Amino acid sequence: MPGSINPDRLLSDMRRLASFGAYSSGVHRPTFSAPDMAARHWLVEQMREAGLAAEMDGIGNIIARNPRQGRRLLMGSHSDSQNHAGWLDGALGVIYALEIARSHIERGHAGAIDPVVWADEEAHYASFLGSRSAIGALEENEIEAARDATTGLALRQALADAGLAGMPRMHISAGDYVGYIEAHIEQGDHLDSAGLRIGVVTSIVGIYQYRITVSGARNHAGTTSMERRRDASRTLIRLAAQIDARIAELAAERTVWTVGNITVEPGQVSIIPDRSDMLLQVRDADPQVLVRIDAALRELVDRCDGGCPVTLGMTARSEPHRMDEGMREALRTSAEQHVPGDWVDMPSGAGHDAQILAGVMPAAMLFVPSIGGISHHWTENTKDEDIVLGCQVMADAAYRLLAG
Ligand SMILES: [Zn+2]
Repeated sequence: MPGSINPDRLLSDMRRLASFGAYSSGVHRPTFSAPDMAARHWLVEQMREAGLAAEMDGIGNIIARNPRQGRRLLMGSHSDSQNHAGWLDGALGVIYALEIARSHIERGHAGAIDPVVWADEEAHYASFLGSRSAIGALEENEIEAARDATTGLALRQALADAGLAGMPRMHISAGDYVGYIEAHIEQGDHLDSAGLRIGVVTSIVGIYQYRITVSGARNHAGTTSMERRRDASRTLIRLAAQIDARIAELAAERTVWTVGNITVEPGQVSIIPDRSDMLLQVRDADPQVLVRIDAALRELVDRCDGGCPVTLGMTARSEPHRMDEGMREALRTSAEQHVPGDWVDMPSGAGHDAQILAGVMPAAMLFVPSIGGISHHWTENTKDEDIVLGCQVMADAAYRLLAG
């Protein structure tokens, strides 16, 4: 096989990385914590031993460079974890990049593979902190303002505690690279349920988020007749049911939507609420579907009566990110060679650093199955044979992209 890797070394490095911040059968490695930094320093050492020039920068990113000239691929993922979470989320793509870059050098293949390890993909401080920094899309004032969502620790302080204060942030020059490839566990159950071994990501979903607010009039719940009252919670409940039914009509096969929060004020059972609001999130890989649902939401809110004014505000909007066709083709060809018929094109329902990189260079992603679709939990796992297969498929695709 052209891009062959060392399966035993791959699995042993995966397990070694999982020993930093080991928690139950998973890891607890929040960004810039002691175990996260120890893991990053270990990764720098491994990359240097492989013959790569590797450095950690002022935001915790590790960007390595194969000293060799020629066509180059950027490859990696993140090494920080959610709190008390799984051992593979991020770590898989990081060790794949190390192993593929290392075996590429050992075999003397053409071109160069540069591994990267992003900081804080899991957004303890800010979403895609490291990858945004690397493409020049992170301002100093955002770093100044960011705090850990759980502990409240200021990002500046966390960087200082981690020994990164005053260090420069490295930017990647997109023009140096053929593209970026990231491997990741699927984190859903599509592959596992269908008995498939590899997913080639078509695009990363777009996410539209809304806050819907209803204004009513506070009054006595016993003496105010149903005709006279302006009830903010009743209006919201009815509207929420209409919204759910309407999205279900407009949804594509993989559209998902969530009402993640509902609040009612003052929140007393004998008081008619004067304010209610809910947070709604919609995800799909097709921009047309998101636009269609957006228009329907606005229409439902405009039409809503019940004597209470309703407002709809969009709180966040990220568009779907298409993966590069040529790079997808290289992954497909490798997958078909290794496991004919047992791979599939599929969208990613979760966000990944690859969507940030896709803004500046061709990008692609490969998924391996998550057993039972479990992720962001310490029981997250993938069969060893699938871990090895995914790495082999990606190595072969990288070899093709660099040879081509
Ligand atoms: Zn991840």
